[in-house]
Formats: sequence, C-alpha cells, structure tokens
Amino acid sequence: TSAATLASFDGTGTTADGHLVPLLANVGNAKDAEAAAALGAQGVGLFRTEFCFLERDTEPTVDEQAAAYRAVFAAFPGRKVVVRTLDAGADKPLPFLTDATEPNPALGVRGYRTDWTTPGVLERQLSAIAQATEDSEADVWVMAPMIATRPEAAHFAGLCAAAGLKTPGVMVEVPSVALTAGSVLQEVDFASLGTNDLTQYAMAADRMLGPLAGLNDPWQPAVLRLVQLTVEGAKAAGDKAVGVCGESAADPALAVVLTGLGVNTLSMTARSLAAVGTVLKSVSLPEAQELAALAVNAPTAAEGREAVRSRLPMLAELG
Ligand code: PEP
Ligand code: MG
Repeated sequence: TSAATLASFDGTGTTADGHLVPLLANVGNAKDAEAAAALGAQGVGLFRTEFCFLERDTEPTVDEQAAAYRAVFAAFPGRKVVVRTLDAGADKPLPFLTDATEPNPALGVRGYRTDWTTPGVLERQLSAIAQATEDSEADVWVMAPMIATRPEAAHFAGLCAAAGLKTPGVMVEVPSVALTAGSVLQEVDFASLGTNDLTQYAMAADRMLGPLAGLNDPWQPAVLRLVQLTVEGAKAAGDKAVGVCGESAADPALAVVLTGLGVNTLSMTARSLAAVGTVLKSVSLPEAQELAALAVNAPTAAEGREAVRSRLPMLAELG
C-alpha cells in the first residue's frame, strides 16, 4: 500500500483541511530541474547556482551563466524559481571566490560575504540572472546566502533592483537574522530558511563532522524556536513569505512541524516530494500547529521527534 499511497500524490502540497503549502525542489542544474518537474515539484525553492560552476577555476562569463540559468528556468514555465546567488566557501569552495587557507571557512568569507573580497562577481551574476529571466517564462526570485545583518539585506536588494530583478530575498542561515527578522525583512520580499546552516550556527557544530550529528539536528528545539521567530518577524515586516529549503523540509514529520510553525513553502530534494506531500495531507493545519508546539517545547530533539512521529500514523503506513 505504501507505493500506492505515494503514487497517488498529485504534486500539490496541502493539509487535510486545504491549507496550501507549495512543495518545491532543490536543484543544482537543468537535469535536476527536469527530474523535479517530472516528480511533481511546483517550482524550485533553491537553485544552488554554485553547483553549476564547482569545476571552474575562473569566473564563468555572463553569457555562460545566463545559459546555465535559462536551462533551469525552462523546466518550470509559469512557476516560481528561487535562484540563490553563489554560495561559495566552507563545504563548497570556488577557487575564483574563496581562500583555501582560511582557518575557519564556515565562519569565513562565504556566500554573500565574497562580495566584499571579490567585488563585481555578484553584480555580473545578477545581470546574468536578469538576462536569463528576460528569455524565460519562469517567475524568478533571487536570494543571497549567509546574510547576517539588515544593511547586507538592503545592499543586496539594491543590487537586484539595479540589475532589473524583482523579488529579492535573503536566506535565514545565520541566527542573527532569525533573531532580527522583523527588521531585516523590511528590506526584502521574502526569506528562505536554510536549516542546514542555521542548525550548524545555532548549535556551534560543524555540519561536516559525523561525531556532531546529534547537535546538527534540525529537531533541536533551539533551531525550531529560530524558525518560529523568523515567521513572527516576517509577519511583522508586512507578511513576507517564508520558505524552508534546508534538508529538514524533506523529513515528512518535520515538514508537518514547519507547516504548523507557519512556513509558507517547503523545498526539498525531489525524491522526498511524494512522502512529504502524503504525510502533510494526513493532518489538518490545527493539528500541525499542535505538533509544532510539541516539538518546540520538547526537552530534547529526540523527544520532540518521537512525540511528533508517534502522532502521525501515515508515517507507519508509508513504512
Ligand atoms: C542550508 O544551509 O540549509 C541550505 C539550504 O544551503 P546549503 O545546504 O547549500 O548550504
Ligand atoms: Mg546554507
């Protein structure tokens, strides 16, 4: 029955009582995007543009970039595609942007911060995105990784406007932004929670280190509290959209909790779409809110996870 249940998933993210939560895909190139569209993704919630250029020693030209972006947009005509500007550094070094000798790369010049040490690359990327957007039917949104302060968000929004791009946003991966979301989000149109890094930074635990996996757990109540604060801040800043694009969105039980916390969209690896959609469909929004409260108030990550999982019989059905 589990295969039949999964197969009946039609791609629409909704709770049992009809609260819509669009399910989007995380992609790194056109091949991923086409596969995600075939699996029912309603759009792209995270296009990791650095994945297009990991092999490169030099900056790709604007035309090369535009071609790579256009190919992803082509898989989602009329749909939302959230492009993340280059997130170079730490686990994803790009020789033309990052310094391999940094002692603490996760706390170093990565993501948006590379604009300070290598000015111009971000502007050229934004013009490549704008060029690709002009030739496509996708609804293109653009966001910056590793934003930590409101002036950074304002600067990024200004660069997007100068490039002719609408709908700028920020990733919420640094706890400072979750804590000040009501202020930071006044500068941009949306937020996307990168729970992989948000967890790493909230728990001070390198996400690459196996022995720290227990800390690097998005069920940690402290992490869920940061998600809650981000949603509250986004409401206060004029009802800005909040998505989740970290791996947490691919855990069906956690996807229910995130929905209960008020997240608007969930973006994940495409192979998780059916399981997340099926479990989400098995609960009402008020039930999801109750489960969210259980997880946020749990004494530990493990107890929160178990409490929520035990109240989701659909999980057992899926096996
Ligand atoms: C994240 O940090 O949760 C995220 C989605 O970005 P990445 O995994 O690419 O750092
Ligand atoms: Mg990240």
